[in-house]
Formats: sequence, structure tokens, C-alpha cells
Amino acid sequence: MRRLILSDIHANWDALQAVLEDAAGQYDEIVCCGDLVGYNACPREVVAWAMEAVAHTVRGNHDRVCAFIDEPSDFNQYALEAARWTNGQLDARQLAWLRSLPAGPLVLDGFELFHGSPYDEDEYVVDRNEALALKEALHSSLCFFGHTHLQGGWVWAKEGLLDLRQPRFGETETLYRLEADAQWLVNPGSVGQPRDRDSRAAYALWDVERRVLALRRVKYRVEDAQKRILDAGLPEHLAIRLAFGR
Ligand code: ZN
Repeated sequence: MRRLILSDIHANWDALQAVLEDAAGQYDEIVCCGDLVGYNACPREVVAWAMEAVAHTVRGNHDRVCAFIDEPSDFNQYALEAARWTNGQLDARQLAWLRSLPAGPLVLDGFELFHGSPYDEDEYVVDRNEALALKEALHSSLCFFGHTHLQGGWVWAKEGLLDLRQPRFGETETLYRLEADAQWLVNPGSVGQPRDRDSRAAYALWDVERRVLALRRVKYRVEDAQKRILDAGLPEHLAIRLAFGR
């Protein structure tokens, strides 16, 4: 079994297509850590695709707000405007599907998925101390999360807690060997709105039998995603930030 791990697609169809093309033939199943919609201009296309193609996904905070499950607590004006617009774009079946997504942690065969942290789907896990505070709540040796839009994470190895790093500019992947007695907390990064100062779409591949994890980046036509945002009448700020990866 080889898994394609996605998170924070955020209705960016152009970035998603680039990821699927880049990973083609290298996975058997797709899983997702939430935030399928919000910010970008293709929620209909992304949800229609996800309903068919994704084996397991948890919901993200934007999925909740866009589906009107609850009121946003910490959304800025741009995110809020995009969420209201997104709700109007989705049909009843798509909204019902979004509302049906589990909060997580979603514990699966040998791994688990959550959006923010296992304690709180809206919590941002950014640094080592925040990772350390979660250790007791991790029930699988391999845990995937999103929400921060920062690719990387940590591994509790024999040597202690080590940082995973995203590919540098000029690299397209970083590879990790999944040692049997280690605990992994991995953020595949954001497909549709990276915030780690690399505008390339981020994702991860996990080969279960070979015990290899790859954190990957792929270039996509950012200008196409930007044009869709502007054509939809969404805030210009949401288009500009894509080019800077922040
Ligand atoms: Zn997100």
C-alpha cells in the first residue's frame, strides 16, 4: 500500500492537479487532513473530486465554516468573505458531504489523521514544545496533521525529538526511512495555500511496505489560480499571497 497524503487543498484546483500529476502512478490511496475548501476559487471542483477520490479525510476549520456548521471564531475578513462565497458555490449534496466529515483524530490501520491537534482540531502545532505536549495523545506510530500550512513535523527517534524538514529550493523531495520503534508526527504541507515561504504545492507520499516517507513540492501555475480568485470577485489579497507562499 502506498498512500498520497494531502492537506489544506483549499479549493485550489490548479495546485491539486499539479500534485496529482506529479504523484501519478506512485500511490494506491488518497487520504486528507482537512480544509478542502476556503480561500481559493474552485470549491465545487475540489469537493466533487474529493467525494470520489479520497478514501479518508477529517474536516478542517474552513470546511466547518464554509458548510455553516459553526460561526468562525478567528477568521480574518478575507477568510470570512471566501467562506461565505464558498457556501453559495456548493450544492446541497456537497454541503451535506462536508458536514458529514469526522472531526478527528481519525484512527486508521497503522496511522491516524487530524487537522490541528488530537486535542483540538483548531489548534496550531508549530514548534517542538507544542509537539512534545501532544505525545501522550498520539495513538499511532505515524500521525498526519495539517492546519498550519507548514510542511515538516517531528520524529521521536532513539536520538530524541528530531525535526523533519521541507525540501529546499532546488529540491523536490526529502526522504525519511520510517524506523519501526519511532513515533512520527508529520505535516504534509498545504496543497493550495503554502505558508512556509515556498509557493510550490506541498504533499507527502508514504510507502507502507518499503517504510519510506517523502515530503514533496511541485511547481504549479500560480497565475492561473490567482486569475480564478480575481475572476470570482474574491479578495485580491488571497491571490497575492499565493505567489509568496505565505
Ligand atoms: Zn487550512
